[in-house]
Amino acid sequence: MYNQLRRCKEKVKWKNLVWHQSNVPRHSFITWLLLQGRLETKDRVRKWLPGVDMKCVFCQEEESQGHLFFECEYRCVEESVEYGKPVKVTGKLQGLLLRLGFCATVYMVWQERNRRFHGKGSREQVAVWKRVVEDVVDRVRVCKGFKKTKLLRISLNVG
Ligand SMILES: [Zn+2]
Repeated sequence: MYNQLRRCKEKVKWKNLVWHQSNVPRHSFITWLLLQGRLETKDRVRKWLPGVDMKCVFCQEEESQGHLFFECEYRCVEESVEYGKPVKVTGKLQGLLLRLGFCATVYMVWQERNRRFHGKGSREQVAVWKRVVEDVVDRVRVCKGFKKTKLLRISLNVG
């Protein structure tokens, strides 16, 4: 999936995924850095700091952007793509949930990676996932045109 997103770079098809008015700006910025290949993961840091410990903070394999967000056992980016399915939402709400869920997941995984990298503790994966859902639901609540009953079902489904 990461490679598919990266290949879309030339066509800039991901533009609406990342830079949509309903997105959370901090989530969009980190996702934009990821899709540009500019997050300072250890594979990039190694280029100017040889000898850096390359171990992933989650699983001890070699850290790269592809690994961290799409291959690591801690990843939940691909799961976020399945986000709308358990509550059987369709149409605009499903598109909104997929977009917000993807960007929120990228942001939360990067935040958790940095928390662990800088020795500031760790959170269980389920806690990170709940933060993703809370951020997405909070954001959908301020978007016009979505019924509150569907949002309640989404909250209950993951809570
Ligand atoms: Zn890993």
